[in-house]
Amino acid sequence: MIDNLPPLRQILDDHDLQARKSMGQNFLLDLNLTAKIARQAGDLADCDVLEIGPGPGGLTRGLLAEGARHVLAIEKDRRCLPALSQIADAYPGRLTVIDGDALEINPLAHLTPPIRVAANLPYNIGTELLVRWLTPPDWPPFWQSLTLMFQREVAERIVAKPGSKAYGRLALLAQWRADARIVMNLPPEAFTPPPKVSSAVVHLTALPKPKFEADAAVLSRVVATAFNQRRKMLRSALKGIAPDIEDRLLAAGIKPTERAEQVPLEAFCALAREVAK
Ligand code: SAM
Repeated sequence: MIDNLPPLRQILDDHDLQARKSMGQNFLLDLNLTAKIARQAGDLADCDVLEIGPGPGGLTRGLLAEGARHVLAIEKDRRCLPALSQIADAYPGRLTVIDGDALEINPLAHLTPPIRVAANLPYNIGTELLVRWLTPPDWPPFWQSLTLMFQREVAERIVAKPGSKAYGRLALLAQWRADARIVMNLPPEAFTPPPKVSSAVVHLTALPKPKFEADAAVLSRVVATAFNQRRKMLRSALKGIAPDIEDRLLAAGIKPTERAEQVPLEAFCALAREVAK
């Protein structure tokens, strides 16, 4: 028992919360598991935690039981609100629920640093939210860490290393200014209803500054162009970036005959610097 609230199955029954596919709803009902996920987020005692999609509140309860100073939860499905206010009553002053769409709401006005993000994300908006969190106008970002559930295949793209099929834009974006690792794997049966695929929790820690110097917009353009035609040699995939791209590749220490998939982050950053010259 992590708290004195009713078990999650009872909460689903009491509030008639049938999971809806259109809302990306696959609930975690095992509170020991949600507490374990909350522990992956690090020391929560002095932090505000932003949670997207609390649903019936399994992870929310985990975060609160693990000592989060304050949880701000944004939930789009109004059917979940009564269950969440029951949790807010059990943890006075420590849970605020915003009724709305996480893609539309700027949560910063409601959060006090240091801030961590933890969520069992709805799969349909997970990557979009991650990309937004990784590309703020200024760095360091508002968050210290992100602890996020993804489909296993997306989690692998976030932590991928050069030479693997999963390596691409998402890996470079995530690893340029953050440390990213998979901290838990979950089979479909961990969820109600079980999704078709396995899931994994990724933990990202924001670095104070990028691992290698580069202009964010130039790096993003170079990487996107290179991976748009990932099977082509870079000298032809990147032709549109600069007429003398072959010289710039060589100046960055990259063989013009290499393919994007082989090029490590450090070399992409060197190329972005050459292109920006
Ligand atoms: N956190 C709960 C858990 O672990 O059991 C629920 C996770 S479920 C995968 C995703 C949750 O996100 C659902 O509660 C769903 O209603 C909510 N959701 C879906 N789209 C959303 C959006 N655009 N903004 C906020 N919440 C959303």
